[in-house]
Amino acid sequence: MQSYLFCLLLLAVPFFLFAMQEASNKSIVLIMLGPPASGKGTQSVRLAKEFQLPHISTGDLFRENISQSTPLGQKAKGFIDEGKLVPDELVLDMLFDRLSKADTQKGFILDGFPRTLAQAEALEIKLTGKKVIVLNLEVSDETIIKRTAGRLICRKCGNVHNQYFSPPSQENICDKCGGELYQREDDKPEVVVTRLRTYHNQTAPLIDYYSRKNILTNIAGEQSSDQVFKELKETVIRQTN
Ligand SMILES: [Zn+2]
Repeated sequence: MQSYLFCLLLLAVPFFLFAMQEASNKSIVLIMLGPPASGKGTQSVRLAKEFQLPHISTGDLFRENISQSTPLGQKAKGFIDEGKLVPDELVLDMLFDRLSKADTQKGFILDGFPRTLAQAEALEIKLTGKKVIVLNLEVSDETIIKRTAGRLICRKCGNVHNQYFSPPSQENICDKCGGELYQREDDKPEVVVTRLRTYHNQTAPLIDYYSRKNILTNIAGEQSSDQVFKELKETVIRQTN
């Protein structure tokens, strides 16, 4: 029985080495999931620097296409100007256009995409043959609400306070310049709650989808930013080595 197990182990070694070799040659795709204000934007920037991969955020894609007035950007602007949501197809066109650029050959980081199951399924074709790692930042709704609805911005210098985490020493007055503090429309609790509800509705199926493929790792997003980064980095290294 023991020799049988030993043989099995011996057989497994070359396979394992081969698999490792394969993984290290593959281009890496990091998909960042997490609610608004979970810190995934900041972490994506740090990961991009660490692993020398382009950071592709849907927000930047929109802005770039619109400011350069590309045909796709003009289309998108039409929807935005009419106060409509940019349709999935157009978002996909912009993304696929970006993914056709040479700098994405080694891999890339997706921040803010996919947002829905339909987008994830459409993306699948672009991920063939690549090492895909989905990183899900878990932050409770309560913390998200404190982070956003607690945010106070100085009208004069743009300094940001938070009434829970970094309150001003005098109510509604900026510590830096004495200017008046205000709350952005987007940060109002009722707006945040609606955005969170949309996020959960759209993303829960996405988390299931990637979990079933065994490529999703949950990271506790309420730790310090440095600790979150350390865990993200270790996860990527572990899964690519
Ligand atoms: Zn100020």
